Amino acid sequence: MKYIDCHAHVNFDAYAEDRDEVIKRALDDNTWIINVGTQLDTAKFAVELAEKYNEGVYAIVGLHPVHTSASYHDESEIGEGGKEFTPHLFSTKEKGLPLTTFSKKSGEGFTSRGEEFEMESYRELAKHPKVVAIGECGLDYFHMEGDTKAIQEKAFRGQIELAKSVGKPLMLHIRNGNGEIGNAYSDALAILDDYPEVIGNVHFFAGTVEDAEAFLSRGFYISFTGVITFAEDYEKLVRAVPLNRILSETDCPFVTPKPYRGKRNEPLYVQEVVKKIAEIKEESLEIVAEKLFENAERFFGFKK
Ligand SMILES: [Zn+2]
Repeated sequence: MKYIDCHAHVNFDAYAEDRDEVIKRALDDNTWIINVGTQLDTAKFAVELAEKYNEGVYAIVGLHPVHTSASYHDESEIGEGGKEFTPHLFSTKEKGLPLTTFSKKSGEGFTSRGEEFEMESYRELAKHPKVVAIGECGLDYFHMEGDTKAIQEKAFRGQIELAKSVGKPLMLHIRNGNGEIGNAYSDALAILDDYPEVIGNVHFFAGTVEDAEAFLSRGFYISFTGVITFAEDYEKLVRAVPLNRILSETDCPFVTPKPYRGKRNEPLYVQEVVKKIAEIKEESLEIVAEKLFENAERFFGFKK
């Protein structure tokens, strides 16, 4: 059986000590990995990691919406637990660039480093044969501070245009806030309507069944993390998405699935996500693992 973690961050600091072992553990157990960049430095590092391995490690390059402006995030946002969980705020130390400061242990908050989407730098990376998508990009209304909606939209549109020009799909990060700013899912769809030739995957999907159907009808895929192993409200959603349009992911180092809760997450644990999807779909693990792997091959079109 083959598995694939379509959205991992082994390129983040959380793996500084044992990165190669983490990757090897997954590959040795027939589990492929796609590392996702969230800023220029983490994107470059994801590509470098992909280059190190002959097969089974790929990269996605882009600018996460929370990194489109510098904003302070309170420690209370950190912590695992379904939709309340904070994404992607680790960075790499390797490049010697200014870092997102984030200290989980000390209980301090962190400041997201603002970055403008520089099309040409990302285009260079995007052309690499091991880069299989553009992202993670989109709209994050949960972490929005002040009126930065227009800034997020500008970076999002830039990345959709890049995806279109290099002929690769999007890896979308879409997250709602308290509703005051609007619905991030419908706003994202309205933007995407301007680019009908571009498709994508909605990572860590946490919208409604109606939101999911709107993306599916546009040809998009939807991926689920380990959150489905411990949060029951995802069952209806997983049931509603056809098996041929689901991708499996961990979003590691975040949202560790059962039975590893409390430990740092890693790509190998995507197997638990696939098991849970099989359970909800009432299908055999063999069939579901095979289908999810085929979905990823079709969606990303891996090249050596
Ligand atoms: Zn992510």
